[in-house]
Amino acid sequence: MYKIAVLPGDGIGVEIIPEAVKVLKRVGEKYGVSFQFEEGLVGGAAIDAVGVPLPDETLKLCHDSDAILLGAVGGPKWDNLPVHLRPEAASLLKLRKELDLYANLRFVKLYPSLVDSSPLKREIVEGTHFLVIREATGGLYFGEKKREKKNGQEIAVDTLVYSSWEIERIGRLAFEMARKSPVKKVTSVDKHNVLESSRLWREVMTRISEEYPDVELEHMYVDNCAMQLIRNPKQFSVIVTENMFGDILTDEASMLTGSIGMLPSASIGGKVAMYEPAHGSAPDIAGRNIANPLATILSAAQMLRFSFNMEEAARDVERAVAEVLDEGYRTADLMGEGLKLVGTREMGDLVANKVKGEEP
Ligand code: NAD
Repeated sequence: MYKIAVLPGDGIGVEIIPEAVKVLKRVGEKYGVSFQFEEGLVGGAAIDAVGVPLPDETLKLCHDSDAILLGAVGGPKWDNLPVHLRPEAASLLKLRKELDLYANLRFVKLYPSLVDSSPLKREIVEGTHFLVIREATGGLYFGEKKREKKNGQEIAVDTLVYSSWEIERIGRLAFEMARKSPVKKVTSVDKHNVLESSRLWREVMTRISEEYPDVELEHMYVDNCAMQLIRNPKQFSVIVTENMFGDILTDEASMLTGSIGMLPSASIGGKVAMYEPAHGSAPDIAGRNIANPLATILSAAQMLRFSFNMEEAARDVERAVAEVLDEGYRTADLMGEGLKLVGTREMGDLVANKVKGEEP
């Protein structure tokens, strides 16, 4: 039996999470595994209910669970709160820090039937499949911040700090993941020409690469990487980078998969891992049953793979998603001519029904 902490959060989080739970329940029935789901409050929903974005009960629930399934947090209603109450900083980033989830793995895979959904040309995107490992508990998002006034001007300061041990552990993970990939190559992304933290990043990556002679290491500037992702995404196997670069590059990379609603992620490092779509709470489409639940369902597949060692079940879910897409079903974000429009719940049903199948 596995206990899963379910944190829907805000906006479309409350619509997409039930679809992933639906699919996990089917997996449980099919593979004879019992999943116990327990819901917790997080983000704006927690502020509204109990006044804080990450209640102690939620944190305890996460610590006591075998894995965490998170929707998304934030929205305009909570945008102007002081920083210690802002859903993103005070719940999501805090959760990652508290649980030591230092590695955010984002799987950029273009499903064959979505080739024409990407804004890029077929010959550029077809066959795209790589992993971005984003450092998730350090860098600019966690460094000291302050505001001050000088000579009548308001000054804002964010601090970008990395220690060598933080770079080492994420670097080793990247090399280990590359070892398991068909193309054994790590692209380490930095801004070595202007940032001191990037110079340390590159030094450490170069040093640990000597422990992995079977894996090729290349260094790439972040601005070049942003361009290369669009020019030739198939050159990548495993990209590893610091927190903010990874945040921005993966939103860009999501367009290679057709929609940001197709990009799953896993945050790992501590005892309990967290699985969440790479997108946010999408307040512009929330409450209309039109959000794409597939990134969340595919994040649940990663949970089966990484937290429960259920590789066959993970592949089963990924196959189910591929088949539903092959049959032409699409949520609004991927809709095109000759395709069948379905809502969030219907997409969840279609995938769950495909998973049902025969006992393995
Ligand atoms: P967003 O990812 O929520 O939305 C960006 C665009 O993508 C929007 O047009 C949205 O409609 C669309 N989109 C996102 N997910 C979709 C899905 N599953 N199906 C279809 N369309 C989808 O980013 P944003 O608009 O910059 O941020 C909205 C809120 O979410 C903000 O409060 C932000 O801070 C928060 N946020 C949270 C997380 C998180 O919880 N992990 C991540 C990013 C942003």
